[in-house]
Amino acid sequence: MDKVAIVTGASRGIGRAIATELASSGMYVVVNFAGNEESATETLRLVREAGGDGEIYKANVANEAECKAMCDDVVKRLGKVDVLVNNAGITRDKLVMAMSDEDFKSVVDTNLLGTFHMIKLLVRYMLKNKGGRIINIASVSGVLGNAGQANYSASKAGVIGLTKSVARELATKNICVNAVAPGFIETDMVKAMSEGAIEAGVASIPMKRLGQPEDIAAMVGFLASDKASYITGQVINVDGGMAI
Ligand code: NAP
Repeated sequence: MDKVAIVTGASRGIGRAIATELASSGMYVVVNFAGNEESATETLRLVREAGGDGEIYKANVANEAECKAMCDDVVKRLGKVDVLVNNAGITRDKLVMAMSDEDFKSVVDTNLLGTFHMIKLLVRYMLKNKGGRIINIASVSGVLGNAGQANYSASKAGVIGLTKSVARELATKNICVNAVAPGFIETDMVKAMSEGAIEAGVASIPMKRLGQPEDIAAMVGFLASDKASYITGQVINVDGGMAI
């Protein structure tokens, strides 16, 4: 059986590029999504075009029961999960004084608790399989902080702490756990920002240009490959120099 990967939030943007990249090395990719089935189906088409195979799977990562149903079903049918990419993420940007509990909780629930759910559920199967790779998509906002993103930065800094702790727990078990911290990447998440905010963002990038989803996918593909078997607990910035 080919390697099996689950990529959360793979219907669009960075997750779609990651799913396609993993498929190009022949993996079977479970394309998780929250609601956008048409878009997830297009990702699956790209996965097959890239040389892999896969399926789409609707599950809200913030909901443990939905994650459990997905993980148990995938392992029951396919026997294992070799690679988990925790990519699903949302923003609810506001200045901290205007931020409600709901703004804060919804972002932490999806970005951080969702990552925890998926790790907790799949680690037991990776241990049984005597190996695995977990790659968490953090953010430059979690590394540096960002005005207007207290909720998002806190969730992504949490993902970094989670990554390092789980990497230490699993280091002797042939399970590598790393984070990739993207900078400003051209996806729906960035397109939702005002033109002025995007211009200011680009000005803050030493390379003076937005990154592409494929820039992140290339690093995830490397971390998922046999070439990265001695790397664990790291946060790799792919950000045009923002976190220098
Ligand atoms: P995006 O274009 O907005 O896509 C978000 C993806 O996450 C979609 O596939 C969406 O599914 C899915 N999703 C959202 N909530 C979910 C949930 N509760 N359960 C399952 N899936 C869910 O985002 P993106 O820009 O590609 O970002 C991907 C990751 O990179 C996120 O973790 C983000 O924080 C991180 N990141 C992005 C940037 C950037 O500049 N774009 C920078 C740093 C970090 P549906 O299509 O079904 O809604």
